Amino acid sequence: MEEQMDFLPCGYFVLTSEWEFVEMNKTMRDLLHLDKMPRHMHDVLTVPSKVYFQTYFVPSISVHQEIREMYLNFKVDKRPLPVLMNVSKRNGLYEGIVVQITVRDEYENQLLKAKKEAERVQQQTDEAYNKLLGLLEEVEYKQQQLLDLNGELQELATRDELTGLYNRRVFRRNLDDAIDRAELFMTRSFSLLLFDIDHFKTVNDTHGHLVGDEVLKELARKLEYKIHSPHVVARIGGEEFAVLFDDPNHQKNCERAEKLRCYIARSEWNSIGITVSMGITSFRKGDQSSQIYSRADEAQYISKRNGRNCLTHI
Ligand code: GH3
Ligand code: MG
Ligand code: MG
Repeated sequence: MEEQMDFLPCGYFVLTSEWEFVEMNKTMRDLLHLDKMPRHMHDVLTVPSKVYFQTYFVPSISVHQEIREMYLNFKVDKRPLPVLMNVSKRNGLYEGIVVQITVRDEYENQLLKAKKEAERVQQQTDEAYNKLLGLLEEVEYKQQQLLDLNGELQELATRDELTGLYNRRVFRRNLDDAIDRAELFMTRSFSLLLFDIDHFKTVNDTHGHLVGDEVLKELARKLEYKIHSPHVVARIGGEEFAVLFDDPNHQKNCERAEKLRCYIARSEWNSIGITVSMGITSFRKGDQSSQIYSRADEAQYISKRNGRNCLTHI
């Protein structure tokens, strides 16, 4: 063999039709870590490659006279060495070259590793995302709970515990708003009614405090049944109630109050026979809430003095 062939940048060999080597350059011997040329192709192949060689290479080359880029593993120092091999038939012999593909193999391994790593990161991202979704759901649920709780607190802060009617605080706020509106537009005048159950102490003393409570609750239900928006009813003390009639027609409001008094005194539900003393007044320009309130209170006091179960208008 020419010396130039020995130093080709690829392995070069020639095989007989029995697959015995007749020539092999130095590059190939170096690749195989051999000083001398081996005898047979089988001597340099791993077991799986030997099988592949017999079952694929041998039949293919006999049909096509050549093989291009066949992937095989040489056995070098008992370890596989991946190579690509081209072989062509010439003058009854088989001439071939091999190039080592460790670099490409390594590159593919790295690609595989990178792909696995990307998959792992993707999985971690998915898991983190799902966890985040779970947390978001939890936050939304907690926020809803907080809103519900706030609603309940709001309700507690505005309602009277025993009767469920608006409490004194809310009523005062409504009264202030009504005054502001009436100051701006005279057409938005209104009337304030205060009333107090007559001799309620006797009801408690005769029937017991619990029955007294039931009477208050039943009266509250009846008031809610009779008084609707825009008018506002509230329990402002023990057995004291207030109504804001949001109607500039004071005469009509007085009639409403009188009807209510009669209804309380005569209703069938009222087996105990409670009555109320009422005081009513209308908004006057320049009124502060304390002034309009005092007038209604005074009117109510006059009703008490005049024998109770009546309505006084100031
Ligand atoms: P008057 O006609 O002068 O108003 O007589 P009165 O007995 O109603 O007046 P007084 O102020 O002397 O008594 C009010 C009573 O109302 C006393 C108190 O025990 C009762 N009371 C106040 N709040 C409640 C309550 O929530 N439940 C019950 N059962 N009684 C209450
Ligand atoms: Mg009272
Ligand atoms: Mg009373």
